[in-house]
Amino acid sequence: MAMVQYGLWPNCTNQCDFCLLEDRVYKSEDARLRVLAAIKENIKVIDWKDKFSNGISLLGGEIFYTDSEKVKISFLDLINQIVDDIFSKSDSAIISVVSNGIYDPDILLRPTLDLLKKRNVIDRINLNFSWDIKGRFHSEESLQSMIKNTNLVYDEYGITPLVQTCLTQHLIDEHLNGNFNIFEYKKQNFPNSILAFLYPHKINTGKVVSDFFFTRNSLFKFIKWLKDNDYDEVLERFIQSVINSSQFKYTGLLYRGDVLDDGEDKEAEYNQEPTLEKKQVLTECGHSNLYRCYSDSDKCMLCDLLKVI
Ligand code: SF4
Ligand SMILES: [Zn+2]
Repeated sequence: MAMVQYGLWPNCTNQCDFCLLEDRVYKSEDARLRVLAAIKENIKVIDWKDKFSNGISLLGGEIFYTDSEKVKISFLDLINQIVDDIFSKSDSAIISVVSNGIYDPDILLRPTLDLLKKRNVIDRINLNFSWDIKGRFHSEESLQSMIKNTNLVYDEYGITPLVQTCLTQHLIDEHLNGNFNIFEYKKQNFPNSILAFLYPHKINTGKVVSDFFFTRNSLFKFIKWLKDNDYDEVLERFIQSVINSSQFKYTGLLYRGDVLDDGEDKEAEYNQEPTLEKKQVLTECGHSNLYRCYSDSDKCMLCDLLKVI
C-alpha cells in the first residue's frame, strides 16, 4: 500500500506562522509549468499497478490557486493524465489533495471537480481542507471562504471532505478547559465532513509558535478526553494517519532542477523513483524521527500511541 506525493508549487500567500514548507519562494509561471511537465513525465515511469496502486497525492502551497491561465490549463491536463495513466492501471488509485480552502472556487477547485465528474471519476478524489483554531485564518473572510468551499464540495459534488486540524497544545488546552469543542464546531460549520487530527510537524518559517507542540502528558490527557467522550473513532483515525505519515506517501521528484536544459539531467530527473528518504530517518525505536515531536520529551509519540490501541 503506497502513494506518490508531489509538491506542485510552494505558492501560497497565507503566511501561516507554522507553515512546514521548506521552500516558500513564489515560483514564476515558467517554473510552475516546468514542474508540471516533469510530473507528467515521471508519472509515465512509475509502477502504478503494483507498487503505488493507491495513487497520487498533490500538494501546494495552495493547490487550487493560480494566477496563470497557462498553469491552470497544464494542471487540468495533469488531472486528465492521472485518469488516463494511473486510474486505468489500478482500481484502488485515487487523487488525494490538501487545500487551505482560501480562494475563489472558480479558479481551480470547481474546474478540477467538473473535469473529474465529466470523466466519471468524481468518487476517486480524496479532498482535505485545513482548519486550525489558531494561526491559520487571518481574517473572518478567509475563514468563511474555507467553510464555504468545504460545504460546496458536498453540496455540489456529493464529496465528503476531510477537515484536517493540527493537534496542538493550544487546541488540547481549549478542550481540557472546556472552552471549545471541535466536534460541536464541526457540526455547526461543516457538518458533512470527517474530522481528522494531524500531529505537529516541523515548522520551517523560523518562527517560534507558542502552544504548538504538546507535552507528552497533555497528549495522554487528550486521549483520555476523546475516549471519555466516545470519540474513539477519531482517535483511531489519528493513530492510523500518524503511522501512514512516514511510510504511505512516497515523495515524487525529490530532486528537481529549476533550470535544467541539459538533456541528460532532464532524463535523470524525469526517471526518479519515488522515495521515503526524508521521512524514514529512523531513531533507536525503529520509527521515524518525525515522531519525536513532544515539547518536553524526546520520547517517540508513535511508540506511546501504539500502547493505547
Ligand atoms: S496555508 Fe498551508 S501552505 Fe499556505 S502558509 Fe499556511 S501552512 Fe503554508
Ligand atoms: Zn517509536
